[in-house]
Amino acid sequence: MRFASLGSGSRGNATLVSHKETTLLVDCGFSARETEKRLQRLDINANALTAIIVTHEHSDHINGVRVLARKYDLPVYATVGTASFLAVDVMGLVTEFNSHENFTINDIEINPFPVPHDAREPSQFVFNSGQHRLGLLTDVGMSTPVIEQALSGCDALLLEANHDLEMLDNSVYPEHLKYRVSGRLGHLNNVQSSKLLEKIDTSHLQHIIAMHLSEKNNSPNIVAPLFSQALSCDESWIGIASQNVGFDWRELR
Ligand SMILES: [Zn+2]
Ligand SMILES: [Zn+2]
Repeated sequence: MRFASLGSGSRGNATLVSHKETTLLVDCGFSARETEKRLQRLDINANALTAIIVTHEHSDHINGVRVLARKYDLPVYATVGTASFLAVDVMGLVTEFNSHENFTINDIEINPFPVPHDAREPSQFVFNSGQHRLGLLTDVGMSTPVIEQALSGCDALLLEANHDLEMLDNSVYPEHLKYRVSGRLGHLNNVQSSKLLEKIDTSHLQHIIAMHLSEKNNSPNIVAPLFSQALSCDESWIGIASQNVGFDWRELR
């Protein structure tokens, strides 16, 4: 199984997960044209995509879903709550999934799990190739036992490290936005994410990548030392997904 990011952050998110003949696009927060451009950079033609899976309906995750799905006739997988926010004219392409039940798209099994976030029915995923498990967790205000169980023992983790709490507190954000971002239905801060890493089984980890970093209220220079401390590993091993580039293909062996 291999995976890559087209970009990660509040201005757009999209992740690729690929195994054998199956390539999934997880969220599509960029315009269709921008998505095509970013896919090209990763040597993927949108024609080669198998399906789009949507975590939740916030615009930084669904901006390009409608146009891309229609243009390439791509099936879209979403929970009932998320699907209710997708445009009516893609409904024929939508398959609803239950975030408590595993399902399979060709060569990849998807293990969804519900997360606390201020959306209608948000879920995040573990992707299972049979041999390896890749965990994805962004857009979540707090950890839960369900999340910890799902992410324990994964071979790779894409984990939100949204903000540094002090930077957010001192930022020019209006109070209601500070409250939203740091609240229990908002986003994980660096310390919360590090604590999650300390709590779960990370003994199989081949890759760890910090995701959805705030461009204003966070910095890779803060995240990398915290994650390396939590995992007792070298700082250079911590990957960071950027807004503009995401990260290049990585492989699980
Ligand atoms: Zn987001
Ligand atoms: Zn969100």
